[in-house]
Amino acid sequence: MSLVTVGTVAFDSIQTPSGKADRVVGGAASYIALAASHFVREQELISVIGEDFPEDFLSTLESRGVRTNGLVTIKGGKSFFWEGSYHEDLIGRDTVTTELNVLEGWVPTVPESARDSKFVMLGNLDPSVQLSVIDQLYEPPRLIVLDTMNFWMDIAMENLKKVISKVDVLMINDDEARQLTGHKTLPLAAAAVHEMGPKTVVIKKGEHGAIMFEEGQTFFSPAMPLEKVVDPTGAGDTFAGGFIGYLARLGDTSWEAKKQAVVVGSVMASFTCEAFGTERLQSLQESEWHKRMSQMRAMVKFRSIRG
Ligand code: AMP
Repeated sequence: MSLVTVGTVAFDSIQTPSGKADRVVGGAASYIALAASHFVREQELISVIGEDFPEDFLSTLESRGVRTNGLVTIKGGKSFFWEGSYHEDLIGRDTVTTELNVLEGWVPTVPESARDSKFVMLGNLDPSVQLSVIDQLYEPPRLIVLDTMNFWMDIAMENLKKVISKVDVLMINDDEARQLTGHKTLPLAAAAVHEMGPKTVVIKKGEHGAIMFEEGQTFFSPAMPLEKVVDPTGAGDTFAGGFIGYLARLGDTSWEAKKQAVVVGSVMASFTCEAFGTERLQSLQESEWHKRMSQMRAMVKFRSIRG
């Protein structure tokens, strides 16, 4: 298998200035797998859900080449539930509820078919679960990407630092980079993350794009300017899915490939923001993201400036 993802598959209730969505399908791994499915024909998903989870979403994933051998359903269990409310600026958000439910105490089993995966996406989830996935791999993969959030920094920093020390790419947002390292500026925060282990650091800045640091090099991609943002939930996960899915498709982990992957991630994430939950990502056509890639290229291309 070229790509395996672990992360939450969940119900989300989301309030934004555009309205409210109650118990829609979400979770980090749902967004990642849907985004990556535009680039890889087959991938594995490792997660845990309760009996309350809708079958039709699992069928949608399977129809897009997402294998669910590693997706465990707990009899009588309740799926992970997250409730968030966005501020007027659509950047700030408050977590209203996080119910771990079936995630509590869950120990993942990596299916045999995924133990030799070359690309591994550790989506936002309990760092002890992320560690357990790494431990079950047969050989060191070509690339391990880790996403996390402040929730896990607050309650599981020790395990989080352990998993950070084992990955190639850390992907976090700017506030989380500051919380993790104590540095105010992003170059200093990135340098501190390099010290913890990862060679590459990607810092997401929401509508202000994403910046990547690797061995003294820096790359920046803007976000696609959108006239209307309905719900930014999952944009970071969609970014991660586009990033790793694209690299897995190329089978390339060079700096040049990663630069393209950051742009792909930014373009894919822009679609997620256009509707509540995974709705827009589910309806997304290849021609639509191709078009937006061209718009993005036009937006950042300019002739060299003469002095
Ligand atoms: P994002 O907007 O990219 O930060 O991702 C939001 C998604 O992450 C939602 O679909 C949630 O279900 C999921 N999520 C929220 N909190 C957590 C958490 N503590 N651990 C794992 N997944 C989470």
